[in-house]
Amino acid sequence: MITWVGIDDTDTYDKGCTTYVMYNMLKEFLKTRGEWRIINYPRLIRLNPNIPFKTRGNAAVSVGLNVDDPREALELAEWAVDAYSHRVGKTSPGIVVSVSNNEHWIYWKALTDVIPLNTAIRWMSKLGVVYRGGRGVVGALASVMADLSLDSTLELLAYSESAPKPSIPINLVRKLSDSTSPLTFENISGDYVLIQPHGNDPVVFGIRGDSPHHIIHFASMLMNEIDAEPRWLIYLTNQATGHHLNSIVNKPYTTGYVEGSVDEVRPVEGGNIEAKVNSTLVFSYRHYGFKSIDKATYLIAYGGFKPGINSLDLYMEGGVALMIKDTVKNPRCPRCGSNLESAGRVGLLKCPKCGLITGLPRLMNYISELILEEPRGAEIRHLHKPTARIGLEGLVKVFNRPSLWII
Ligand code: ATP
Repeated sequence: MITWVGIDDTDTYDKGCTTYVMYNMLKEFLKTRGEWRIINYPRLIRLNPNIPFKTRGNAAVSVGLNVDDPREALELAEWAVDAYSHRVGKTSPGIVVSVSNNEHWIYWKALTDVIPLNTAIRWMSKLGVVYRGGRGVVGALASVMADLSLDSTLELLAYSESAPKPSIPINLVRKLSDSTSPLTFENISGDYVLIQPHGNDPVVFGIRGDSPHHIIHFASMLMNEIDAEPRWLIYLTNQATGHHLNSIVNKPYTTGYVEGSVDEVRPVEGGNIEAKVNSTLVFSYRHYGFKSIDKATYLIAYGGFKPGINSLDLYMEGGVALMIKDTVKNPRCPRCGSNLESAGRVGLLKCPKCGLITGLPRLMNYISELILEEPRGAEIRHLHKPTARIGLEGLVKVFNRPSLWII
């Protein structure tokens, strides 16, 4: 019987990682069970990026297991969470076990909205989903119900418990990135290596991509150069799919969007920019590279909504700035061909040569430029779909799961 297990909220800012709980759970499972009993890849699902109580990237994990009794899956997950979670402060681990994973509306809701714990519990009771633990059940449930039917990506996560983390040779990352992109992505941005997280978590590096063969090649070449025992797991993810933009609700702590004339732009602390668009304050961080806003007359911006002083403020994640540079000239006199001049009254022009007074409109020369803004590599949000991925949607499904998906 295929049973879906979801896990979330097992780590703190400075310790642990929910993906590592899953890694250890699957390694334990494989000690006594065949690999075929694990359905496809485990899933690493990013949820609402604007949730106030996330630790880092609001990730939750899930997997489909072929077991004789769903209780086996629950016991295994309980063991893994007990053994590998770090219950400090606000950490509130949750486990979900379900025989169905088709309630995709829960996933879409969790990506774009805030789900109170008691609401999630009510849904689970109705759907016959078994749950254990605290607030983590919200993310765990959403991960189980993830809809990856149209688009998904892969991430290979390599682990080590040794501290400090082994250092990653930047030149090799650059070389491997060049030779495997666009089937791997977000590896390096300028001189900044993106594949290694800097916290105290056990992740040595993560390689994202659309082809399992390219990410395994990348990882094995790296492993060969660094001082770490090779241990890794490939996840199926919703990263880089832009799924969080599928539904925009314009409420606090959700993804929202604003469109309109830029009324006012002023630099604020740290060189960041604050723009007023249709009475909404839009904050654009200097390091995102959204500098063109100050020249834009019309802005379409999306990002996270947070409560502001009088209304909601938008923390910009991306958008389109419509820049209009205008040059304005007076037309020629229709009677004698001289250049007309202002007649001193609004809307009227006068010919300095023949004295004609006319209401001809002035000649406006608009140069409009659409600029697609993308954050700098180091600032990219997990769900942000890079332009390099356009056209690769659904590619992951073409490849079978390779034998080296877990080592
Ligand atoms: P990491 O990236 O290291 O896994 P994290 O950023 O995923 O950490 P968690 O520690 O998992 O953060 O905490 C996120 C919490 O938010 C979890 O308890 C999860 O159940 C909850 N959560 C996630 N999405 C929603 C949502 N849409 N509505 C309500 N709660 C949510």
